[in-house]
This record gives sequence, structure tokens and C-alpha cells, in this order.
Amino acid sequence: MAMNRLFEIYSIWKAQHPDEDISLRQLAEASKSRVIVAVAEERAANWMAVDSAAQVSSDEFWGDDAGSGGMQLQEGIGKLVAAMTGEAQYYKADIQTRRIVQAVKKVKGRLHIVTDKDTIEADYVVSTLSVGALKSGSIQFDRGVRSQLDPILAGMTAARMTKIFVPLRPEFFDQHNIAPDTFVTIYDRRHAWLLHLRTDGKPLVTIFASAAMSELVERSNYADIEEQMLDLLERVDQPNLSGVRDNLEGRIHITDWTTNAYFLGAYSAMLPGVKRRNPLVVGNLIFAGEAFVQNLKKSPSQMTGAWESGRIAGKKILTKLTLAARTETVATSLA
Ligand SMILES: Cc1cc2nc3c(=O)[nH]c(=O)nc-3n(C[C@H](O)[C@H](O)[C@H](O)COP(=O)(O)OP(=O)(O)OC[C@H]3O[C@@H](n4cnc5c(N)ncnc54)[C@H](O)[C@@H]3O)c2cc1C
Repeated sequence: MAMNRLFEIYSIWKAQHPDEDISLRQLAEASKSRVIVAVAEERAANWMAVDSAAQVSSDEFWGDDAGSGGMQLQEGIGKLVAAMTGEAQYYKADIQTRRIVQAVKKVKGRLHIVTDKDTIEADYVVSTLSVGALKSGSIQFDRGVRSQLDPILAGMTAARMTKIFVPLRPEFFDQHNIAPDTFVTIYDRRHAWLLHLRTDGKPLVTIFASAAMSELVERSNYADIEEQMLDLLERVDQPNLSGVRDNLEGRIHITDWTTNAYFLGAYSAMLPGVKRRNPLVVGNLIFAGEAFVQNLKKSPSQMTGAWESGRIAGKKILTKLTLAARTETVATSLA
């Protein structure tokens, strides 16, 4: 209901301001309803994974047809990665994993990728580092690269989301009559918790700890989080989850995307009014990945967006290679 009303307000506003963007918070406030403001804040935290609805671009929020959850791979992302790796190796690609890139520098017209093990030379580099990792500056780029990259990063936030997986005895869900993929939101004074009961039909509760709550959870001690999450679940009365504590089966799993140095965030989010762009090309170095895709219908922030961005980056390199080959042919025939 609240979301329908918000969308209605957005549609009316958009009809009057077709070329402008507005924050989700401003839209919610226009409704003059405290419930709608609370729902907008909950969506900002649990879906966009940012600290406030004031940071959410309404164009982004409603621009993606894929909607909540985006693409779901039936047999998991591992299978897709294995298939892509197999295909690339078939074409003799030399794939090296478990190497930490520390710097990418231009040396005598070529690119040097300095890793924790060695330095690799390349003609072209495509980076799919996350917004969080790029903003942290942990990988060194030439000054000319940073001067083009930084203004783009300034319009983006690294959305923060931690998932807490609570494994329960399968019978618990049947005894409490809980259907697969039931969503419940608990509006606490400090935070709105989103619970995904019986996630994908599995005997699990997934608790979303997003935005400001994310880092707090990841930096806390395991026993504290376990205690607090079981407390939270025990308090849920619709559907009734009492007795959950006695049905815990194994350890709770807590993701670390927000604090893991190789991610430093879950996915990109644009500030209101800032438009996305396609991969950034700086000479032979290209920045791509989920954050660098202009067309909102291609699902930036999600796997489809990451795929589309990589496709565009690949095409840009192919165009450069074709041009270089042509120039070489002309030079040879002139000689
Ligand atoms: C909680 C959560 C839920 C999501 N749910 C969905 C969903 O349901 N559907 C969907 O479509 N998308 C979902 N996404 C988004 C999706 O996972 C991303 O959009 C996608 O993975 C982005 O791909 P990418 O290639 O751009 O970047 P990434 O997958 O982030 O790849 C970047 C890679 O760079 C590596 N790296 C970082 N630093 C270095 C370094 N110094 N040296 C070498 N390597 C480095 C990282 O280890 C990582 O493997 C979700 C994301 C999160 C966090």
C-alpha cells in the first residue's frame, strides 16, 4: 500500500519534471504520512542498502524493471563462473586467480599490473573493482586516471548490506505454518529489520542488516550477534516464531561484504540527481562492472548490469584493436 502510494506520487512528480530526479525521502515527505516515510526509510536501508532515503535516487529506485532481487541463478553463481572460466580457457586464456592487484601503472606505453606475487604487463586492462575498493584508494592508479575516476565516484555510494543466515530445524517451519519465501519487516526504534523466512525454500531465516547496521554487525562478536538475532526472532508474532532459540541447527553465518577489503560494500548506488555512465575509458585502462552501466533497464548494481558493462568494455577494446590493426596494415603497405 505505502509503496503504491509512493509510486503514485513519483509518477505525478515525474510527469511534471520529466528531466529531473528527486530523492525517495522528498517523495515520502510529500505524502505527509509518517507510515510512508518509515516505509521509504526501510526500503532505503534494506533494498538500496544506504543510510537514508535522502540518499536514494527515485529514478534508480523505480528505473529497473528487474525489480527486487534482480536475476537469480538456479544453480548459483559458482556454476556461471566455472562455465565462463572453461569457455575462456578453451580459447587459451591464461587465468590467474588469488593474486592481489596493488597498482596499475603506465610504463613506456604499456600497462603494468603490480600484484602481491609479480608484475604483469598488458596492452589493455579492464577493472571491475567495486566502488568501495576504488574509493578506498588501496589500489594505486596514475594521477591522470584518478583525476577522471574520482569525480565519478563522488556521485556514488557503496551500498552496505550484511546477511545473517540463521539455520533452523526444518520441522520448525512446518510446525509454525510458514510458507517458503515469507518476508517480514520488524520496525524497531533503531532499525527496520527485514527477515526472509524459509529462504528459497531452505530451512533458513535470512536477516538483512543493512546500511549503518551492516558495519556494526560485521564488527561485533559472534556470540553477541547470535544472542541478539535469536532475541529478535523470538519477538516476531506474525507468524509466531517463539521457540526459535531451541530450534537453531548449527552456527549462524554472517557475511562480510561491508568490511572485507576486496569489496567494502555490496553494490553501487547513485546519489539523487546523478546519472550513471557506461565504462570509463582512460587510455587502455577501462573501469567496468555493476557500477558502470548507464541504462537503468540493464539493471546496474546487479549481475545483469555487471554483464552488460563487461560487454560494452570488451567491445571498446575490440574497436581499439581493430583500429590499431588497420593502422598497422596501412603503415605496412605504405612502407
Ligand atoms: C547481499 C547481496 C545480494 C545481491 N543479490 C543479487 C541478486 O539477487 N541478483 C543479482 O543479479 N545481483 C545481486 N547482487 C549484486 C551482484 O552480486 C553484483 O552486482 C555483481 O557481483 C557485480 O559484479 P562485478 O563483476 O561488477 O563485481 P564483483 O563481483 O564485486 O567483482 C569484483 C572482484 O574484484 C576482486 N578484487 C577486489 N580487489 C581486488 C584486488 N586488489 N586484486 C584482485 N582482485 C580484487 C573481488 O574479490 C571481486 O571478485 C547482490 C550483491 C550483494 C552484496
